[in-house]
Amino acid sequence: MFSLKTPCEEKARLLRRHAAAEADYHRAIHVLSLAIQTLKKPDGYVLEDFAESAKKIVEGAWDDLERHTSEHGC
Ligand SMILES: [Zn+2]
Repeated sequence: MFSLKTPCEEKARLLRRHAAAEADYHRAIHVLSLAIQTLKKPDGYVLEDFAESAKKIVEGAWDDLERHTSEHGC
């Protein structure tokens, strides 16, 4: 789907982890946006912090992927 080259096992694992983190992030954003609309009060800040944490997990997973690619070359 993405590449004709088959990634090594470790990279496949990292890709799955990133995809899972990203799916979690999008789900969290969806739920949070609904929650913020419902609450309509400054508690939204707490929810934004939560979304920010979810985003950091996605970025961390991406960093791991990039590090692997540069160190391993695949
Ligand atoms: Zn590799």
